[in-house]
Amino acid sequence: MTPRVVSTPKLLLLGTLLIAPSCARPSSPSSGDQGAQAGSPQDTLSTAKAVDPSLFLAAGLAGPVQEVPCTLESGESTTCLRIARTSVPSDHAQGPWCPKSIHDGPEAGGIWPEAGVAHEVTGEFVANLATFYEDSAWAVHNEDGTINVTDSAEKCAAAARPDVDPDLHNHCVECLPTYLAQDTVVETLIPKVPTKARSPSPIRSNIGLALNGVEFAAPAPTHAILAAHTLAPFDDCGGHINMHEGYHYHAVTSGCLTSIAQGDAHAPMIGYALDGFPIHARAGDDGTEPIDLDECRGHADETRGYHYHVAGPGKNQTLNCFTGEIVEGAARRPPGPRPDQPPPK
Ligand SMILES: [Zn+2]
Ligand SMILES: [Zn+2]
Repeated sequence: MTPRVVSTPKLLLLGTLLIAPSCARPSSPSSGDQGAQAGSPQDTLSTAKAVDPSLFLAAGLAGPVQEVPCTLESGESTTCLRIARTSVPSDHAQGPWCPKSIHDGPEAGGIWPEAGVAHEVTGEFVANLATFYEDSAWAVHNEDGTINVTDSAEKCAAAARPDVDPDLHNHCVECLPTYLAQDTVVETLIPKVPTKARSPSPIRSNIGLALNGVEFAAPAPTHAILAAHTLAPFDDCGGHINMHEGYHYHAVTSGCLTSIAQGDAHAPMIGYALDGFPIHARAGDDGTEPIDLDECRGHADETRGYHYHVAGPGKNQTLNCFTGEIVEGAARRPPGPRPDQPPPK
């Protein structure tokens, strides 16, 4: 399917139209509210709203969202939404990732997270890696100023393996959309109505979906990437490509993702986590993130119920864990090698 760029006015209309029915929907009972005190954040959890499939941009879906029976990790049977998606963002361009020369500016490269900061991957940044990481083995650039960049699908796959091909050490790893099969469709199951789990569960692979259908992925294995003296930058929208799952996000940057304004000063909604709770941008209109976030980066308020706020783009980790029940097996690694993730323990 050919992705279509959705125009801004249409997106605004979408946000305006769709937020209303979602808010007007009566509260759904939840099985996760045992012991809740009236008026407490726990109680707000029990008023969780159903996932609204119409919030996803149709251009990123491979067909209508379907309701299917599913089993949660708790063993409980429930109803899920099956979201088949192309992993191609319809609301922004992909790349660039790697500058080709040490003289290239920030427009030629993406970002790289280190110590909580999203660094611009400029030619100068690449030329400076030995100093930046205090390791003289870094030499991603050549004497003539060119930068070693993976320039084929084969090199991209070989460089993104957990055991990086030795020939591709000291490369900037860039996997282009043209390397991917055009008909790649990935299915994700999300509980239709989120319920709180007894205890938070760890993130292993997929964190959730942006409204354009693209996955918020688990942290990129930067230690393994750096150990081979490679960089695998995210583009300015926080995403990059691997050959098995296509484009995915490791960071959320401002101004890229389709978002739904909240009508108050609260951060806009940008997607859904795998447990069905909404994901919002990091900061509200005042530029600060909420101070009452739990360990998973969630909190509850009367307007929205429980929801998450993503971390800053330098963290390489959008959310820390799942508060709600996820579908059985949903967070496991997909079948086949996952070159972008550490090898299974
Ligand atoms: Zn990745
Ligand atoms: Zn909030």
